[in-house]
Amino acid sequence: MNTRVWDVVIVGAGPAGLAAGIYARRAGLTPVLLERGLPGGQLVETDAVENYPGFPEPIPGPELMDRMRRQAERLGAKIVMAEAKALTRKGELWRVEVQDGAYLGRAVILAVGARPRELAAKGAKELTGRGVSYCATCDGYFFRDREVLMVGAGDSALIEACFLAKLCSKVYVAVRHPQGDPKAIRAMAAIRDRALANPKIEFLWNVVVEEVKGEGKVAGVVLRDLATGELRELPVAGVFVKIGSVPATDWLRGVVELTRDGYIRTDRWLRTSQPGVFAAGDCLEPVGRYAQAIVAAGEGAIAALEAERYLSGIEGSKGQNTGPKGEI
Ligand SMILES: Cc1cc2nc3c(=O)[nH]c(=O)nc-3n(C[C@H](O)[C@H](O)[C@H](O)COP(=O)(O)OP(=O)(O)OC[C@H]3O[C@@H](n4cnc5c(N)ncnc54)[C@H](O)[C@@H]3O)c2cc1C
Repeated sequence: MNTRVWDVVIVGAGPAGLAAGIYARRAGLTPVLLERGLPGGQLVETDAVENYPGFPEPIPGPELMDRMRRQAERLGAKIVMAEAKALTRKGELWRVEVQDGAYLGRAVILAVGARPRELAAKGAKELTGRGVSYCATCDGYFFRDREVLMVGAGDSALIEACFLAKLCSKVYVAVRHPQGDPKAIRAMAAIRDRALANPKIEFLWNVVVEEVKGEGKVAGVVLRDLATGELRELPVAGVFVKIGSVPATDWLRGVVELTRDGYIRTDRWLRTSQPGVFAAGDCLEPVGRYAQAIVAAGEGAIAALEAERYLSGIEGSKGQNTGPKGEI
């Protein structure tokens, strides 16, 4: 086992983890970041990021993340390619187990992210990034004045459908239950009513996407009517998918408090249910969540600053807090 004790073990080197590493170093802490894939997180999958401040021109996701990684490393954050498999308490320390050993930390920041649940329709995988998108805030702008389809009818899907309706000429929303079925729309009443009242949004009830069509870019979809089995084509330029997401937190079950869907519960200072364990980014409970890199990076910064306060004894941990922050 690696017997060095790090001030903070950060799990995940996406925007949240890298920002946490930068802020931890700037606060004089020794951070180690554990990353199971390539550093960079989800953003390495996108060709152009247009909404990250500081880049007047679109920047490729891999380049933005390479800059963040280099900045963290220049400041002295250590990045190790390893998958965290278990988190246990060892006296005053936390032990993060990896394949070939373990890392000991006085504090831990969980920045493991979440993956959008993928659309299981023929052609969807091949056309992801070519008209199939999992993020309207990120990609909606590319479909200005075009017709698009939103798949999903939860809060996020309908919020994003309303967002797209400001940019696109028409937004279809594919719902897999019949109109009037209590399961059809799982969004809050206010969001549902706003979407239903929007003249640019048309709901397509009781349908599923059978296929996404297009050579190199999306040209349309084939929808299947679940009542009749009938297939019909809908020519749209973009397919936005919001059918949930899957946080990378299986290994944390029973260790920190999670929601039923596996998101990490924190207080507003990003403290989890365990003392000295913080969380940041897309793995957090999605209350009013935005799933954006800038938000994840901001939360990474907060988690690192809170870890520093915890380690310097300024703040207690959640449940033991004696300062004004305990009053949430
Ligand atoms: C295709 C696409 C395009 C996007 N475009 C934009 C955009 O234009 N603008 C924008 O703001 N946002 C965009 N987003 C959203 C943005 O990428 C996410 O909100 C952001 O990456 C979340 O950062 P994060 O650090 O919380 O998580 P992630 O980016 O998911 O990073 C988590 C990291 O943790 C690692 N990890 C997970 N589990 C473990 C473990 N057990 N051990 C070690 N490592 C682990 C993962 O490998 C990953 O690298 C896009 C997302 C996608 C999928």
